[in-house]
Amino acid sequence: MVLKNIIFDWSGTLVNDMPPVIGATNYILRKLGKEEMTLDEFRAEFCLPFSQFYERVAPGVEPGQLETWFHEAYIPLQDNVEALDHAEDFLQFVKSKQIRTFLFSSMHQQHYESLQERIAFNQYLDHPYVGVWDKKARIAELINKYRLVPEETLFIGDMVHDIETAHHGNLRSCAVLTGYTRLEDLRSSEPDLIVEDLSVLQELLEAANWDWEAVLEKSSGVK
Ligand SMILES: [Mg+2]
Repeated sequence: MVLKNIIFDWSGTLVNDMPPVIGATNYILRKLGKEEMTLDEFRAEFCLPFSQFYERVAPGVEPGQLETWFHEAYIPLQDNVEALDHAEDFLQFVKSKQIRTFLFSSMHQQHYESLQERIAFNQYLDHPYVGVWDKKARIAELINKYRLVPEETLFIGDMVHDIETAHHGNLRSCAVLTGYTRLEDLRSSEPDLIVEDLSVLQELLEAANWDWEAVLEKSSGVK
């Protein structure tokens, strides 16, 4: 089946926002008198929905208070967000094939909009959904609204929650290793495909003429 739709995650898939996110998380931990996390600890611990992560690392703290602290620390650090290598090339490639594109991200609307001056990926994303805290709970809404055919729709993300969301919607799934989650954790969520980065996926899609089954045949061994 030839793909006609792509749903993108944002952080770790199209941009690297790890420095401000870790910075803001450690700011919260300092406020609570707790030990800061190293990069490795953060990658092992962080998960979506955010609420599950904060219930573990900051139990009992009001979500509103967490959000206020997160913003306080994130905004001064947001100039450190960078487009990931190959992301813009991939988006251009996708748009040149008349693929319908969606963004499905838990990122705060305000943070997303303020980035667009520097990283104007919105021009490639037909239907941006931001502020989606629980993607699994909202994927059906997207599928129904745009009448997405699951076999023609690929979800690309860097976290277990992204892959679980794809499975929940019966969508095709591709995990990228450019983000927050380590290979062994991503593997356990059983995506159709795992790639090092979007350039690998681009080559596979091109070689397979966008037929997902053919992509999976060609990629055996990439996983
Ligand atoms: Mg992500």
